[in-house]
Amino acid sequence: MRIAVVGCGYVGLVTGACLAEIGHEVVGVDSDKQKIEILKRGRVPIAEPDLNDLIGKNCREGRLRFTDELEQAGKTAEAVFICVGTPPLPDGEADLTALDRVARNIARYCPKSTLVVEKSTTPVQTAACLLRALEIYSGSNDSCFEVACNPEFLREGSAVRDFLHPDRVVFGVQSERAKGLLTEIYRPILDQTFNCPLHASHHGSPRPMLISTDMNTAELVKHASNAFLALKISYINAISDICEILGADVEQVARGVGSDPRIGPDFLRAGLGFGGFCLPKDIEAFVRIAQKSGYDFGLLREVQAINRRRIEVFLDKVKDALWVISEKKVGILGLAFKPNTDDIRFAPSVEIIRRLLAMQAAVRVYDPLAMDKVRALFPKIAYCKDAYELATGCEAILLVTEWKEFQELDWRKIKSLMDRPLVIDGRNLLNPAELRSFGFEYISMGRRR
Ligand code: NAD
Repeated sequence: MRIAVVGCGYVGLVTGACLAEIGHEVVGVDSDKQKIEILKRGRVPIAEPDLNDLIGKNCREGRLRFTDELEQAGKTAEAVFICVGTPPLPDGEADLTALDRVARNIARYCPKSTLVVEKSTTPVQTAACLLRALEIYSGSNDSCFEVACNPEFLREGSAVRDFLHPDRVVFGVQSERAKGLLTEIYRPILDQTFNCPLHASHHGSPRPMLISTDMNTAELVKHASNAFLALKISYINAISDICEILGADVEQVARGVGSDPRIGPDFLRAGLGFGGFCLPKDIEAFVRIAQKSGYDFGLLREVQAINRRRIEVFLDKVKDALWVISEKKVGILGLAFKPNTDDIRFAPSVEIIRRLLAMQAAVRVYDPLAMDKVRALFPKIAYCKDAYELATGCEAILLVTEWKEFQELDWRKIKSLMDRPLVIDGRNLLNPAELRSFGFEYISMGRRR
């Protein structure tokens, strides 16, 4: 099918590349002309495993191209996927300005038979508002625009794999035609019959569950999923604090709890809490939606409060260990909100750097992918080429993102480079016994000292 994907960020680029890979003819549209220029020159503006290869391959094979104007692509598209950002407004509500702008363009340029698919994460009832907007802007009371909600569950860092091999695909539709079109678009993924060299499906690949429902329910599935993940993280972090008070070990508690199949081991890692573009803003938006509809979602407000306190808990450990922070050389190891991405939106590292700078620390940082994005926020701190340069002369290393490669560093060498061999591990990534055997003062979260 001919598909336009509007918004070429983390979700839009992955959606566009994967839909092209399974055989569709895709045009990626973004209002950011600079981003489109980069893409047209064959480069990819974000770091995401396998994405460069997939975009390159599909552009070469003629199934994927990019433009900054919906006008041309929209005229012939059978479906338009909206993947623009829905960032938080100051009061926590989702800002739907970009979505509204796209709706106006779709109404202007696309034929009424186009299926408009809302993939951005939006508050419940947005798809219904989108349909109304399309009717209004196209000047028609009996619009034939078909709107569907198709929430996205990909995780940055494994987004291509997640898109091609999802656990479930959710269609929020109000007609059999919309369901039929979406099923046709997703058929190779639903049946796992595509032939991607990077993430091959093969006979026996588990097929995703297809959940077809109304639009409001589909929108709620996305919010309820993210809220539950956040709840799990805050839950284990609360347990972590209790472990510290009572002298228990949160890693072992999490193992004991997570081995129950009704609970599961994922998202039970105690540490600095959740960040990123999805969980914090989606939980905030969900609390606001509930509030507006007359339900006080106190449970989620507590999830947020626990998460906000993680930075405090961590910085208290830093202050306890370093006493006066001013003039101390502190190295931040890891900046991205999680490993395998360059995304620093709502990353704990940003708040930690801000707070350390306010306390006059001499901050040095290293991250395998996210340095440029942090440089744009803090141009004056020291950017190191690797963890060893970071360690040199430091009085503390604060481990903030759980990159696997940090486990494989030569920690003996790091110790020899530091002024004071102190590691405060905000992700419980390192082995306490090993670090201590190398002579480190090692502090982590919810584990016995
Ligand atoms: P992003 O900021 O990386 O990308 C959004 C893109 O939309 C940008 O490139 C921006 O230039 C473009 N854009 C904005 N207004 C536009 C307009 N009027 N016309 C054309 N392009 C426009 O955001 P993202 O991380 O890809 O997230 C997009 C949506 O998907 C959000 O609603 C988010 O909550 C949701 N989501 C994100 C993830 C994730 O892991 N990032 C996962 C699932 C769902």
